[in-house]
Amino acid sequence: DSLSTPIRVTLFPGDGIGPEIADSVKQVFRAAEVPIEWEEHYVGDQIDPRTQSFLTWESLESVRRNGVGLKGPMATPIGKGHRSLNLTLRKELNLYANVRPCNSLPGYKTRYDDVNLITIRENTEGEYSGLEHQVVRGVVESLKIITRQASLRVAEYAFHYAKTHGRERVSAIHKANIMRKTDGLFLKCCREVAEKYPEITYEEVVIDTCCMMLVKNPALFDVLVMPNLYGDIISDLCAGLIGGLGLTPSCNIGEGGICLAEAVHGSAPDIAGKNLANPTALLLSGVAMLQHLKLQDKAGRIQDAILNTIAEGKYRTVDLGGTSSTSDFTKAVCDHL
Ligand code: NAD
Repeated sequence: DSLSTPIRVTLFPGDGIGPEIADSVKQVFRAAEVPIEWEEHYVGDQIDPRTQSFLTWESLESVRRNGVGLKGPMATPIGKGHRSLNLTLRKELNLYANVRPCNSLPGYKTRYDDVNLITIRENTEGEYSGLEHQVVRGVVESLKIITRQASLRVAEYAFHYAKTHGRERVSAIHKANIMRKTDGLFLKCCREVAEKYPEITYEEVVIDTCCMMLVKNPALFDVLVMPNLYGDIISDLCAGLIGGLGLTPSCNIGEGGICLAEAVHGSAPDIAGKNLANPTALLLSGVAMLQHLKLQDKAGRIQDAILNTIAEGKYRTVDLGGTSSTSDFTKAVCDHL
């Protein structure tokens, strides 16, 4: 951890509560003397023709150059006729897998205290391919795209992750009994990859059964891999198991080793600008980013400071039943450091 030149990292503060929780991360990282330098990029206020979205080309170049970044939530205006910012990022940077660890927090009581699972979501296709159109008035169509290439790539990532993180089981989540062709192909690819990892137990679980099992006993699962839409839904369900969206981090993995960490939650317009947001999810995403950068010591210290602050119970944000503001909680984490 004793690097003399700081590592350059891209930071998208994002929309809504984004700038408030990004500020919290900057403060905590400064207190922990993390040797990184933020390259901050905001979402533009007009469409950049080179990205066909409000994301600037320079911001994408920054991630490509640095290979590592942290991203706040970005709001998607409904029906405004331009590409979703998150979709643009995923497509332009080829962020093919979204990894979402979900662990019970010691000292914060929920219905379960043994949640320890990882959801890995295919991030580039499925129902989120952005291919929707009106056939005739009153009839619209959306294309669900599943390709062999993207399915193999995310399955490979999931098994490799399981192997390198001491995990024992990978469950492929699907609805292939109805979506025979699309989810069928996804499963076929998972099976092919599973054969290369005989030491990892492989199983297939239908999405509806998976929801029931997760709510009854989340300890039944270890690593879950699934197509885009299921991953979006299941990971929010998992966040609910441990205390909500304010707590769950994620990492987007791209080709060429890009890692863009972000909280699972959105821009929370209902509480934006009120100093009420819980910065934990983005802070833990920052921790995941530091682990990716092999700054294990700093990552461990910051994670302990966050978990100890929550466990102590004196400073908790409103979503966790407390009365602390974003800045009070942030200060408490810095004090723990
Ligand atoms: P949301 O996650 O923003 O909010 C859902 C609920 O959770 C709200 O009540 C909110 O107050 C609460 N919440 C979320 N994060 C919180 C935090 N850190 N602390 C305390 N409470 C928190 O979901 P939404 O309202 O459906 O979406 C709002 C906007 O965010 C939309 O434009 C959506 O497209 C966008 N979005 C972006 C991302 C992303 O950038 N990755 C993800 C999801 C949604």
